[in-house]
Amino acid sequence: MKVLFVAGRWAQDIQNSKRLKELRKIVDVEISEIGDENTLLSKINGVDVIITGGPITAPVINAADKLKMIQTTSVGYEYIDEAAASANGVIICNVAGVNANSVVELAFGMILDIARRITAHNRLMRDGGWARVDIERQVEIRNSTIGIIGLGAIGSRMAQFAKLAFNMNILTYDPYITEARAQQFNAELVDLETLLKKSDIVTVHVPLNEETRHMIGEKELSLLKPTAIFVSTARGPVVDEKALIKVLQGKRISGACLDVYEVEPLPKDSPLRTLDNITLVPHIGSTPGIMVQMRETAVWNVIRVAKGQSPMNIQTLKLYYTSHKWQK
Ligand code: NAD
Repeated sequence: MKVLFVAGRWAQDIQNSKRLKELRKIVDVEISEIGDENTLLSKINGVDVIITGGPITAPVINAADKLKMIQTTSVGYEYIDEAAASANGVIICNVAGVNANSVVELAFGMILDIARRITAHNRLMRDGGWARVDIERQVEIRNSTIGIIGLGAIGSRMAQFAKLAFNMNILTYDPYITEARAQQFNAELVDLETLLKKSDIVTVHVPLNEETRHMIGEKELSLLKPTAIFVSTARGPVVDEKALIKVLQGKRISGACLDVYEVEPLPKDSPLRTLDNITLVPHIGSTPGIMVQMRETAVWNVIRVAKGQSPMNIQTLKLYYTSHKWQK
């Protein structure tokens, strides 16, 4: 079995990985610092598994003669050509769950920041001021209603924090979960419109795919309460950024919190950078320590496969993992 680890800027760091040393004892591992299409095309021959945090395009997947698995070092995997992977019988696995807590702590940090205008007050103090900013917007989040869109690893952790730390009432919209899962996290399963209309805080935790691209647009944002706080730590294109900018410029909601953007890095001239009613952070959902754990988990999953066990966290449900694929 041959593994190609497209490690990019982590190529040096991962040399110290205990798990990678373990994997290298059982299979052949090539580490590539470069992950562009031409480099991958030149290396793909004979590769059974790719580990990556960057794009794997259709030409690379189509050219692969032995590829069976793409293991990401992230949770989102929209940068892998899923259609080409499915067509070629290649499964995609991610590291779901590893960074859930880290993302949730960031989300609540941003929510509290907006609810109490902490950044705005900080800015005012540094400019020599002493006053309350946006008095009518400052609220406690305790006992409020949070609407969680996508009750997966991160969404469900949001629900746990919301209940335990702030005694929130929890609504969730997720067409792929059961009532029982919602109940397990003290959430009421509702449709999207109800969630948007009734929540004080709306937070998005869905994967980016053709179904979720711009799932929050002008119409959805228009349903939010004038006091609502809108949060996205999912992926930029899930939210129509132009529509959100309009809503924030018109002060039609209390504010927003974003970790992800339609274009990353966020362009220097983006109007988002000029608004007072938004907390912006540059895609830092996972702490650096958690990012190490994510890479270790990715390698651990490949070790499982190398030892003949089934991989965990298979994301491509169109395909079923069948043992004969591994014996080709
Ligand atoms: P997950 O796969 O555990 O959960 C996703 C949930 O979304 C699932 O419950 C699924 O049923 C639900 N869902 C799918 N399509 C939906 C739809 N159309 N409407 C409503 N719900 C839908 O993933 P997760 O670990 O919770 O992560 C969620 C997303 O957050 C990831 O896909 C990733 O893009 C993003 N993420 C961002 C960061 C960051 O650094 N900001 C870190 C981790 C993950």
